[in-house]
Amino acid sequence: MSYSLPELSYDYSALEPHISARIMELHHSKHHKAYVDGANNALAQMAEARESGNFANINRLEKDLAFHLGGHVNHSIFWTNLAPDAGGTPEGEVAAALDEFFGSFGAFKAHFQAASLGIQGSGWGVLAWDPIGARLIIQQLFDQQGNTAQGTVPILQLDMWEHAFYLDYQNVKADYVTAFWNIVNWDNVAKRFAAARANAGASLLV
Ligand code: MN
Repeated sequence: MSYSLPELSYDYSALEPHISARIMELHHSKHHKAYVDGANNALAQMAEARESGNFANINRLEKDLAFHLGGHVNHSIFWTNLAPDAGGTPEGEVAAALDEFFGSFGAFKAHFQAASLGIQGSGWGVLAWDPIGARLIIQQLFDQQGNTAQGTVPILQLDMWEHAFYLDYQNVKADYVTAFWNIVNWDNVAKRFAAARANAGASLLV
């Protein structure tokens, strides 16, 4: 098996009252687990196809791999972007970069919220490092894998699938997004930003 479900560094109840233990348990142990299993299954079926030389299902398998691996990557980042007793405002390099590329922290938040709430269907709000432009950008990621460019590196992601909030917030997505800011792990964002800025361009700009 190539992919496995990562452990969380906090309990399922640790993000309450912003995200309930019930959502966290279902989201991690069922939804994320299904993406891990789906990605491993797609790889296994691709190996079978190579062995048999029968590629009749290759289009479906490529879509399955993109979707399920996307789901695994997205959730693996998302869990670390969150922490109990977190939130507040970023400091240091992240704060300076948000000012540089979005004008201010407030303008970044407004842009990120609007992009997240505006997603038509299922998807993610994403703050990403674009190594070609050497800048931070905000993306609407559709489903688990669509509407983005190769090579951008996610720094902060917000799950806008209904399974991420519906038990707690029903249709009031804006309250979920507002609550998200109380549990953003800015230390993790800073680590991801530093790593992306230092290394992400190397593989693209050879
Ligand atoms: Mn999810």
